Amino acid sequence: MPRASRPATDPARAERRAPDVVVIGGGPGGSTTATLLAAGGHDVLLLEREHFPRPHVGESLLPASMPVLEALGVRDQLEAAGFLKKWGATMVWGTDPEPWSWYFRETNRRYPHSFQVERAEFDKILLDHARTAGVDVREGHRVIEVLFEGDAAVGVRFADERGREHTVRCRFVVDASGQGAVIGHALKLRQWDPFFRNLAIYGYYEGARHLDGDAETNILVEAHADGWCWVIPLHTGRSSVGVVLDSARAQPVIEREGLRAAFESALAGAPRTAALIADATLTEGPIVVKDWSYVSDEVVGDGYILVGDAACFVDPLFSSGVHLALSSGMLAAAYVTTALKDHELAHAAGPVYKTLYYTQYRHFHEMAKLFYSSNRNADSYFWEARRIVGEDEGFSPRHAFINAVAGQPPQGYERVVLERGDAPGAFVESVQAVEEERAARERAVAEAHEELLAAVPVLMADARVEVQPVLGDGEFEWGHVLLTPMRPEGTACSALVAELLARFDGEASVSDVLRSVCADFSLDPEAIAETVTAAVRILYVDGTIEQLAGFAPGPR
Ligand SMILES: Cc1cc2nc3c(=O)[nH]c(=O)nc-3n(C[C@H](O)[C@H](O)[C@H](O)COP(=O)(O)OP(=O)(O)OC[C@H]3O[C@@H](n4cnc5c(N)ncnc54)[C@H](O)[C@@H]3O)c2cc1C
Repeated sequence: MPRASRPATDPARAERRAPDVVVIGGGPGGSTTATLLAAGGHDVLLLEREHFPRPHVGESLLPASMPVLEALGVRDQLEAAGFLKKWGATMVWGTDPEPWSWYFRETNRRYPHSFQVERAEFDKILLDHARTAGVDVREGHRVIEVLFEGDAAVGVRFADERGREHTVRCRFVVDASGQGAVIGHALKLRQWDPFFRNLAIYGYYEGARHLDGDAETNILVEAHADGWCWVIPLHTGRSSVGVVLDSARAQPVIEREGLRAAFESALAGAPRTAALIADATLTEGPIVVKDWSYVSDEVVGDGYILVGDAACFVDPLFSSGVHLALSSGMLAAAYVTTALKDHELAHAAGPVYKTLYYTQYRHFHEMAKLFYSSNRNADSYFWEARRIVGEDEGFSPRHAFINAVAGQPPQGYERVVLERGDAPGAFVESVQAVEEERAARERAVAEAHEELLAAVPVLMADARVEVQPVLGDGEFEWGHVLLTPMRPEGTACSALVAELLARFDGEASVSDVLRSVCADFSLDPEAIAETVTAAVRILYVDGTIEQLAGFAPGPR
C-alpha cells in the first residue's frame, strides 16, 4: 500500500507530492472514506482542522452501522474501549404518557445492539485507524477552499497548524467537513428543510441515573410540550442530555433568560428526563446548535464528492447521523475508486451514489416526519406546527416509503410509530394494506415449486431492468437494476433475474422461460429450476410480478 513520506517534525511536510485524494474532515464520514481508499492502495491526504480527541455531539449509534464498523476493522477496538452497549430505546411519545421501550433484537437478530459512544473517543479511534491504514492524517489543518478549474475540483488551499497557507493539487476531493460543508457553502448547494427548523441545547451531566432493568443503557427520548429531550448514558459515567426546540420560538427565550436557564426550564418540562438528572451535575455545556435539516442539490461533481453531514443532515430523533456518515463514506470510497480508473463508469455512477445515499436519508427523514406528526402527548405550538395534515405535504415519494415500511425494516422504528404513535389514519391503513397483501402472497407461494413453474407471470406496469452502475466489491461496476414504481431508486439484481424479467411477457409460463434461458445460455434446467422459482417467489411477494396467472397452490 503506498504511503506518503511524512517526517513528523518537518514543517515543510505540507508541500508533499500530489496525493490521489484529499479528504476534508476527520469525523466518521471522512475517516471511513479515507481508510477504505487507502486500503485500496490510494495515496490519501486527510486534513482535519481540530486536534483529536475533540468533542462532538451525537453519541447514540444504530446497529445498522455495525457492518460498516466491521468492514473498517474497528469493531474490536470499540468493544475494548468499553462503550456501553445500546440495546434499544425508551420513549415517551405517541399516545401513551408512560415510557415504553423497544429493542433492536425485535427487528435485527444479527446486530441486536449498537454503542453509546463518547464521540471524542469514538472519532479518534476511527481517525487513528485511518492513519494505521496508510492515510496521511494532518490534524490542525483547516481547508480554506477547494480549488476549481472550470467545474472540476483540482485541489485545496489550506492553513497548517502555524496558520501558513498551502495549496495541494489532487485527482479527487472528498468533502467530509460535516456541517462546515466547505463545498456546499462555496457552490450554494444546501436546501434547508422547512419542516425541521429546530435548535438543540445540550450538555453533559455527571451522576445521572440510568433507566431501570433491561433499559439501563437505552437512550431515553421524551416528548414534551415544547419539543423533545434525550438522555444518553455513557461509559465514562457522564450522560449526554439535550433538548430539541422550535428554533424561532426558542431563540428569544435564550436571549431573554440566558442559555442555562432556557436549558434547565426546558428539561424541567420533561418529567422523566428531569427525574434522571435530579441529583446529577452539569459538567459541560450547555451548548446550543442549529438543528435544521438540509440536503444538497448535488452530492457528486467533477473531481469531488460530498459525504455525511457535508451533504445532508436529518433531525437527530433517530440517532441516524453517524450511520449516514459511515455508510455514505463507504459508498463514496467505492465511487472515488471508480472515478480514479474509469471516467465513463464514474459519470454514470454519480447519480447512483446520490440515489443510494438519499434513499437512506429520505427513509430517516420521512420517518422523523411521521414520528413528529404522531405525537399526541402534548397539544402545543411545537406539535401542532409539525402535524402532517394533507397527504401531499407528508410522504414523498409516498409509495416508496410505504413499501419500505411494509417490508423488512432494518431499524424497527416504523413498527413503533404504527403501534404506539398516532400516525395519520390514511397512512396507517395504506401500510396495513401493503403488509396484508405481502403476507398473503408470501403464504400463497411459500412452498410452491411445480405450481410456480406452471404459472404465467404478469409483471406490474412500468417494471423494467436497466444496465446501470451497481455497488460491487469496493467499487461500482456495470450491473442490472430492477426499477419499479414502488422502488424508483432501483434494486440491483442478478443477470439471471434480468433475463427472466425480460422474458416474462404475460404469456410464457415460468417453465417456458426457464427452458428458453437455458437454451440460450447452455444451462441445465434442472440445475437452476430451484433458483428460478425462488426468484419468482421473491418477485411475487415484492409485487414486481403482479399476478401469477394459472397459479394454483397445492394443499398445505
Ligand atoms: C443536536 C444533535 C444531536 C445529534 N445526535 C446524534 C446521535 O445521537 N447519533 C448520531 O448518530 N448522530 C447524531 N447527530 C448527528 C451527528 O453528530 C452527525 O451526523 C455526524 O457527526 C456526522 O459525521 P460527519 O463525519 O459527516 O461530520 P462531523 O462528525 O461533524 O465531522 C466533520 C469534521 O470536519 C472537520 N472540519 C470542518 N470544516 C473543516 C475544514 N474547513 N477543514 C478541515 N476540517 C474541517 C470538523 O472539525 C470535524 O471534525 C446529532 C446532531 C445534532 C446536531
